[in-house]
Amino acid sequence: MPQPILRLALPSPLRRLFDYLPPASVPPTSLQPGMRLRVPFGRREIVGVLVEVVDHSAVPEAKLKPALELLDTRSPLPPALFRLCLWTAQYYQHSLGDTFSWALPVLLRQGEPAEARQERFWHVTDGARPEDPRLSRAPRQREALRTIAQHPHGVAHSLLTQLELSKDSLDLLLQKGLLRIETRRSHQVQRHQGSWLLQPELPLNQEQRAAFEAIRAGLNGFQVSLLAGVTGSGKTEVYLQLIHQVLKAGKQALVLIPEINLGPQTLARFEKRFNARIALLHSNVNDRERLDAWLAARDGEADIIIGTRSALFTPMKSPGLIILDEEHDASYKQQEGLRYHARDLAIVRARQENLPVLLGSATPSLESLHNAHSGRYALLKLTQRAGDAQAPRFLRLDVKSRPLDSGISGPLQQAMAQTLAAGQQVLVFLNRRGFAPSLLCHDCGWLSQCPRCDARMTLHQRHNELRCHHCGHTERPPRSCPDCTSVDLRPVGTGTERAEERLGIIFPDYPVLRIDRDSTSRKGSMEQLLATINRGEPCLLVGTQMLAKGHHFPRVTLVAILDADGGLFSADFRASERMAQLIVQVAGRAGRAEEPGKVIIQTHLADHPLLVQLTEQGYFAFADQALSERRAAGLPPFSHLALLRAEATKSGQAEEFLDHACHEAEQLMAQLGLSGIELLGPVPAPMERRAGRFRAQLLLQANARAPLHKLMSAWLPMVEQLPSSRAVRWSLDIDPIDLF
Ligand code: ADP
Ligand code: ZN
Ligand code: ZN
Repeated sequence: MPQPILRLALPSPLRRLFDYLPPASVPPTSLQPGMRLRVPFGRREIVGVLVEVVDHSAVPEAKLKPALELLDTRSPLPPALFRLCLWTAQYYQHSLGDTFSWALPVLLRQGEPAEARQERFWHVTDGARPEDPRLSRAPRQREALRTIAQHPHGVAHSLLTQLELSKDSLDLLLQKGLLRIETRRSHQVQRHQGSWLLQPELPLNQEQRAAFEAIRAGLNGFQVSLLAGVTGSGKTEVYLQLIHQVLKAGKQALVLIPEINLGPQTLARFEKRFNARIALLHSNVNDRERLDAWLAARDGEADIIIGTRSALFTPMKSPGLIILDEEHDASYKQQEGLRYHARDLAIVRARQENLPVLLGSATPSLESLHNAHSGRYALLKLTQRAGDAQAPRFLRLDVKSRPLDSGISGPLQQAMAQTLAAGQQVLVFLNRRGFAPSLLCHDCGWLSQCPRCDARMTLHQRHNELRCHHCGHTERPPRSCPDCTSVDLRPVGTGTERAEERLGIIFPDYPVLRIDRDSTSRKGSMEQLLATINRGEPCLLVGTQMLAKGHHFPRVTLVAILDADGGLFSADFRASERMAQLIVQVAGRAGRAEEPGKVIIQTHLADHPLLVQLTEQGYFAFADQALSERRAAGLPPFSHLALLRAEATKSGQAEEFLDHACHEAEQLMAQLGLSGIELLGPVPAPMERRAGRFRAQLLLQANARAPLHKLMSAWLPMVEQLPSSRAVRWSLDIDPIDLF
């Protein structure tokens, strides 16, 4: 019989598997796909995942090395997750080993046992009492026994010091048979028996009920529903009631949310509603907690799993439903390494595991709306706010030829003054941090250019520095112009810091609170700001898109959008979609309680058809218009894109590599007889130089997915081998959402 060969996925960018011999003492029959092995790799030892066992290798047998150690007695990944990773690597043209690295908890990648941690617990034995005569002269042991007796489920060994228990006394008690030790899983949380609900469910309104019933009817198999509900229409209530159905059926629910929404409020809402074991997976949990949550989900010891993008890869013992909240949110797309989209993968996973998926948003992506229109997704709409809250009114304020005071027009100031005087709050949105987006010499036109990027540096006055938001470079602002020595240097444009400062001067009697990445970077500062806002006194909130997500500001009745124009004439074809979503989401923060809200949008393009549609007829009318423009231009979702990006330290190197890659692609298309694929480029990236590197890109646009992927599979191995690839860093982005 030939020697069995193990084919392993290793954490390497190379799109191939690596062959090894089995470890010396391991019978080949005990090997299953998904098991981890420690193997020699160059001069290092790394952990790989077994993909298959074959009987032949292209590598001569003498050169094959044995794996060092088998780390698992059974595969830590259930077959469903293994299959999802294979699909992901294939679709995104990514190394399988690196795909596992992104999908699995860090500790598993490092070889940690894939079983929940065991811990020792100290218990009082039956009948043992502190009055035991053997303890009459041992006061410390007596006290220790008393303390332990207060914990009916035992005391974890790791908590002894905290309870001021000495190990010596415990050992003596153990010898006397008054204590016993039990070893069990430390994180096993018991659910209280009985109802899944801790809180009664709200009676659903008509639209909610229709959506709920439609989704419930399909809970037993694959289906995708798009719940398009205006902000505050009670989408979350629908989620909660569906999850209740899933729990009653003995299954688990996976809830994905954008990073920024993972406030304590979200978790609190689930915890208040359910008597259930909730596992949390997001970037703030440490590696051990992440592994524990992952294992609990895998072993059916978590009922509800809540997490951000990568939680999509959480295995579940009996999955019943996947919910993706705010499905339009860009944070579902990973922008580095494995460039996957959690929404798209959620649907793939659901199809593989025969599960329902629920996508929810007030402003669904054009992709999802298109899928709903073409019948692939069930579209369920909630058009009314739940309870008594009314929808906000929109007003386009034409600022052409009006003077702006730090970005704020006169009529807007008046509206703010009225709102504050009525005892209500004002929210001012602008999507720029810092004081001003650049510093300009009024005499010669010098601008604060970043030395490493094709971009301006932002003036941050509070810290007295110029900061590049693209590469992180910082400098002290010059006192005089570096070119002409003039001292007439002026900040141009308005950032949140400047608006904050100016509003403080215009409205000295009211507090101005700034909410952006700079003002909330300290731990707890966001909570503090929210607490102040929730007290409800009149004030002004100034902030970036952080304000647009997830929060309820019931006392805000005026929302001001200082500048909507960036989204209307950007080179990026998705800019208008993003701007519309942002406007609607920001507007949704207003007037959520009794008082109706008003939204004022400052613009130089007050008659722009997309803006008119959006403000007069709402998001869905906008989306229809935007979709027909996309169709006419042959842009996604009516075509499919792949973007090959490259960057290099010397100018021209990236283009040279992309030229070669482009040439290979042309030849392959001819050889394979593929048509309907356009190669656009190579061209310099919209920001050609970034962090000191020169960047270029090649865009592939196809009217059908199949030929594009056929080309990719043949092309990538060739691209990998190109000699010019050594001088560059390159990456492939399938279904890119940013084209730079
Ligand atoms: P969304 O997720 O669409 O923004 P939520 O589910 O958060 O909306 O609901 C907004 C507010 O309306 C919440 O305070 C919620 O408790 C309340 N609400 C939701 N559904 C109902 C209902 N059927 N009856 C009364 N209040 C409701
Ligand atoms: Zn100058
Ligand atoms: Zn820079």
